[in-house]
Amino acid sequence: MPLQRRGPIEGTPAEAAVLTTVFAEQPIARTDIARRIGLSSAAVTRATQPLLDAGCLEYADAGAGDAAQDPTTSRMGRPRRPVRIAVDYTGTFGLKLTHEEVVGVLVDFGGRIRGVEQRPLAGTDVDAAIETVVEIIGALDRRARKLGFTHPADHVGLSVSGDVDHATGRVRYSPFLDWREVDLGARVSKATGKHVVVENDVKALATAEQWFGYARGLDDFALVTIGTGIGSALVVDGALIRGAHSVAGEIGHLPVGDPAVLCRCGGHGCVEAEASTETLIRRCREAAGDPDLTLAEAVERARSGDTAIEQVFVRAGHLIGLAIASLANIIGPAQVIVSGEGLTSYDFIESAIRAAFVEQTFGAAQQTQLHLQPLPLDEWARGAAAVAIEELAFPSRLAAGRRVFGGSHA
Ligand SMILES: [Zn+2]
Repeated sequence: MPLQRRGPIEGTPAEAAVLTTVFAEQPIARTDIARRIGLSSAAVTRATQPLLDAGCLEYADAGAGDAAQDPTTSRMGRPRRPVRIAVDYTGTFGLKLTHEEVVGVLVDFGGRIRGVEQRPLAGTDVDAAIETVVEIIGALDRRARKLGFTHPADHVGLSVSGDVDHATGRVRYSPFLDWREVDLGARVSKATGKHVVVENDVKALATAEQWFGYARGLDDFALVTIGTGIGSALVVDGALIRGAHSVAGEIGHLPVGDPAVLCRCGGHGCVEAEASTETLIRRCREAAGDPDLTLAEAVERARSGDTAIEQVFVRAGHLIGLAIASLANIIGPAQVIVSGEGLTSYDFIESAIRAAFVEQTFGAAQQTQLHLQPLPLDEWARGAAAVAIEELAFPSRLAAGRRVFGGSHA
């Protein structure tokens, strides 16, 4: 059951637009916000005041004296005085579930990680996983109380790979967890008394990138993750694309590989069947004739000149590059961020990705920038927390089916 929201964070569309802009560009003066969102300076000042009063925004020079106390300025303060997010307004919890473990973080209102909890999962049993999730939230909640946020932390974001119904908090199908039709959000909410949202893990990660990361403030970008699975999240005109069935962005199942290779989805030649970590390890073992070779050892051998193993990685990079080029040709993002656990150990895949990308992109899509960045595990959990912050700060916008960065500048 959703809890009563604290504080009038999102009162009007103008307030939401101001808050979004401050998140993306802080610290920022109200005159600059006005220019950015196309409202008058007076309208922005009116929209900013309730956010300052609620305590979710503050003056960036708060230590240097408060303009409200200064009799020479109006109650609204000077519009050139920069404002920023008040990081201690509240905390949110973000947890990422895999079939092996649950990683949870506590983040403040500015998106900084203020606590981390990690527990292994013995199996894919739903009850046991939920118990672990509840334990982690409990531990992070104790941490949040110690930190003393202005408002208690009561929003939780959970992220899971696979087909997730964001609106109902239900996991429809998660292949790695082997879950079907699990009411994850409702069950965790009942056990913790917190407001819980559930999101696909890659979409959650894209949300964190947009709020706090490399894609801060970008309206058109794609995030591609490489690892156990190959996934993507697409942001077009500021809105995260879910599609009619919530599975938009399944780049892993673009058939750019060998049609003879069967994918677990039932399709053939999927890039995920050809370039996932699991496939890479198997092929490296075959190439080396060593059934116990680890991925780290394979990377080491490729680096020291084992061309057979190197070719396994190059081929995977080539196919990933083709898939990303297809994505760029279709949706035309300004940036594609390529990330995932797959990047940390085999960075030399990058040149193969880039070469195939350039080869296959059409016309101006070649100008798409590819940004490759390794991804710490905490970042997945922070993605889930970003979804919770979005839910906390922009509930009505989300209820209307729009992401907060979408078309908010009118
Ligand atoms: Zn497939």
